[in-house]
Amino acid sequence: MKSLLIINAGSSSLKFAVFALPLTQDAPSIYRGQIDGIGANTQFVAKDIDGKTLLDTFIKSPEGTPLEAQQQLALDALLNWIESQNVQLAAVGHRVLHGGKEFCAPVQITPEVLAKLETFIPLGPLHQPHNLRPIRALAKKYPSLPQVACFDTAFHRTQPWEAQTYPIPRNFTDEGVIRWGFHGSSYDYIARQLEGVIGKEKAHGAVVIAHMGNGASIAATRGLKCVATTMGFTAAEGMMMGTRCGTIDPSIILYLVEKHGYNAAQISSFIYKESGLLGVSGGLSQDMRTLEASDAPEAKEALKLFYYRAAREIASLTAAAGGLDALVFTGGIGENSSAARKAVTDYFSWMGLKLDPELNKVRGKAHCIHAADSKIAVAVIPTNEEWMIAYHTTSLLSL
Ligand code: ADP
Repeated sequence: MKSLLIINAGSSSLKFAVFALPLTQDAPSIYRGQIDGIGANTQFVAKDIDGKTLLDTFIKSPEGTPLEAQQQLALDALLNWIESQNVQLAAVGHRVLHGGKEFCAPVQITPEVLAKLETFIPLGPLHQPHNLRPIRALAKKYPSLPQVACFDTAFHRTQPWEAQTYPIPRNFTDEGVIRWGFHGSSYDYIARQLEGVIGKEKAHGAVVIAHMGNGASIAATRGLKCVATTMGFTAAEGMMMGTRCGTIDPSIILYLVEKHGYNAAQISSFIYKESGLLGVSGGLSQDMRTLEASDAPEAKEALKLFYYRAAREIASLTAAAGGLDALVFTGGIGENSSAARKAVTDYFSWMGLKLDPELNKVRGKAHCIHAADSKIAVAVIPTNEEWMIAYHTTSLLSL
C-alpha cells in the first residue's frame, strides 16, 4: 500500500504516523506510535487505526552505545517495522522546529535546504539537530525518497515587526533573537477549520486560538494569518505550561545565578522541567487530569494560576488582534477540560462572552460552545498536526 510516513523526532523520542494515499480530509493514520526513552530504555510502541497495540517492544543496544547511534537504531527499527507491514513509502513528512526567516512554508528537502536548516541549530539546539538527523539518515538510505519539512515557526512569519521584536539591543535582533513562535502546524490546521466551525465572517476576523497541552501557546489571527503569539525566541515564553514557567521576570534568572549559584543546566531545568503546573503544585503533577482530580490546595492553586495566566495572555492577544470575534480551544487541555474552558472564559464575561454549559460538556468533533446570546464565539477544535504535515507533504509533491 502506498503511504506517507510522518516523523516528529526529538532527542529521546520519535513519534510517527503512517497515512494511506491518496490522503483525504482528516483521514486517520493507518498506523501511529512512538519510540521513547532513546538513550536509556528504548521502547517501541505501534498502534493500528483503531488504537489497538500491534507492537510493544524494547530496542536493545550494547552498553555505552552513543546517543546518536541509538537514535539511528530507533529509526532503523521503525523503517523495518513499516516494511514488515507491507507499507510502501511514497514520501516522508517531518516536523521541524525551525525554518528561520527563509522558510515561511513547508519545503521539499534538498541538500541545499538541509544545509540551510542546519544553520538554525543554534536557534533551537534542543530540537533542531534531532529533527534533522532522520532527514539526513533517510536521504542517505533512500536517496530518491522525497522528504518534506514542515516548520513550527512558519505560521508566525506573518506577524508584524512589533510582534516579532524584543526590546533589546538591535545587534541581537539582527542575529535572530526575535519572537519566532511555535506550534505552527497546529495553528495552521485550526486556521483551516475555522470557516467551517465559526462561519466565514468571524473566521476572517480577530480570532484567538489557545493551544493548551503539555506545551501551551496562544496565537491571534486576522484574515486567518497570525498577527501575534505567546511563544517567542523559544517555546518557553508566554503561557504557564505543564513543566515550563512561561513568561517570568528575566531577573529571576539573575537571582538564581547570584543567590543559588545556578549554572546553565540548572537554569534550563528550572525553566523547562521544574516549573509550570508541576512546580506550582509542589511537585504533585504536570498533568491537568491529575490536578483536576486532586483536593490538595497546591493543585487548586496551580490550576487557578494556569487559568489566570491564560486569560491574561488571551487579553493581550486581543489587543494585538484589534478585537475578539472568536476564541478557540485546542490541545489536550483545550479539547478535553471543560473546567479549564469555563474558568478561562469566565475572565471575559465582562465582554459579553457566555458559554453554553451543555455544549461545553460535549466531546469529540469540532463545535461551538458559546451561548446563543454570547457576543463572542467560542469553539473547541481538535488539532491534528500529523494530518497537517501529511497534507502539506502530499500537496507539495502532488501525490
Ligand atoms: P503535548 O503538548 O504533549 O502534545 P497534549 O496536547 O497531549 O500535550 O496535552 C496533554 C495535557 O492534556 C495533559 O495535561 C493532560 O492532563 C490534558 N488532558 C488530556 N485529557 C484530558 C481530560 N480529559 N481532562 C483534562 N485534561 C486532559
